[in-house]
Amino acid sequence: MIQWVDKLREQRKLQPEELRLLLTEYDAGQLEYINRQAREVCQQQFGNKIYIRGLIEISNCCRNNCYYCGIRKGNPHVKRYRLSEESILACCRQGYDLGFRTFVLQGGEDPALTDERIEKLVSSIRQNYPDCAITLSLGEKSREAYERFFRAGANRYLLRHETFDECHYRKLHPQEMSLPHRLQCLQDLKEIGYQTGTGIMVGSPWQTVENIIEDILYIERLKPEMIGIGPFLPHSDTPLSGYSAGSLELTLLLLSIFRLMHPSALIPSTTALATLSPDGRQRGILAGANVVMPNLSPPDERCNYALYDNKASLGAESAEGLAILQKQLQEIGYEISKERGDSPSQTITKDKS
Ligand code: SAH
Repeated sequence: MIQWVDKLREQRKLQPEELRLLLTEYDAGQLEYINRQAREVCQQQFGNKIYIRGLIEISNCCRNNCYYCGIRKGNPHVKRYRLSEESILACCRQGYDLGFRTFVLQGGEDPALTDERIEKLVSSIRQNYPDCAITLSLGEKSREAYERFFRAGANRYLLRHETFDECHYRKLHPQEMSLPHRLQCLQDLKEIGYQTGTGIMVGSPWQTVENIIEDILYIERLKPEMIGIGPFLPHSDTPLSGYSAGSLELTLLLLSIFRLMHPSALIPSTTALATLSPDGRQRGILAGANVVMPNLSPPDERCNYALYDNKASLGAESAEGLAILQKQLQEIGYEISKERGDSPSQTITKDKS
């Protein structure tokens, strides 16, 4: 297996059969080896700096019914909320003062958050924080809506494709949702000029090694600027409550594979990974991740944005806990960067936004 890791580092590419071996034959020593290779590649690009993004969960209302997600429309136990523009701007202010230069607005597909409202929100943030990046993660919208948000000043968009396999997609989503539509959204986002992020949940129910290989190949073709990889974690009020969480090791392996294939990508060590394991955040970075996204949402609402059970939002997961995060990173030889942290291929356009 070591030979495939070396080949992947050198050529940034493997044949599907080679990927299959890598994904199925690894042991603890080999995982450590690939994590180290990925870490070196990451350090060549980014040094020992970790970018921070302030995550603001703007609404937990959603018209969709994804079987894995805790805030799905069909979950009657969710206390629904939607932040006002004023409250979101207050989160940005707090984040800015703490040193954040990227705000990530994430939420369900909330019908009350119309395109007009989102456009206006983005404009206000852009006016108030001309030096910050604005990232949106608000699900599937029309191309026209994405264009409007982009013109209003949004720079980046996160939309995980979740799985590239139609059969697998159908098992995770109800009939009214569509994989081709999600993939079209990603294409539109790229064409419009967003720094685009996609990715998958590792170990989602029914996911096979073949599915993961297809995901890797899809991401290779799309060349997203950002890649979001976290373990599936069950939520007790969803149809998938009985399934087990994704594996820590497989998540770390995939983080390293993506780093070796995409040296300059922005890859977060996710909250889901930190929730799965107490040292998940650090291990993600040691596997090649270079971004963390502490929570800037109003503390009273954080518990209501529960995508899965026991979602971490305190300590190093919180924006207030930046000192704890800094200490955790220092323990493993890294430090927080307060730079805006655009994708290296995109830095030239930075001043225009
Ligand atoms: N509505 C937006 C944001 C979704 S939440 C959208 O459609 O993109 C962001 C991500 O959280 C999802 O893309 C999904 O990959 C992840 N997520 C949702 N439920 C999860 C679960 N039970 N376990 C792990 N990750 C989950």
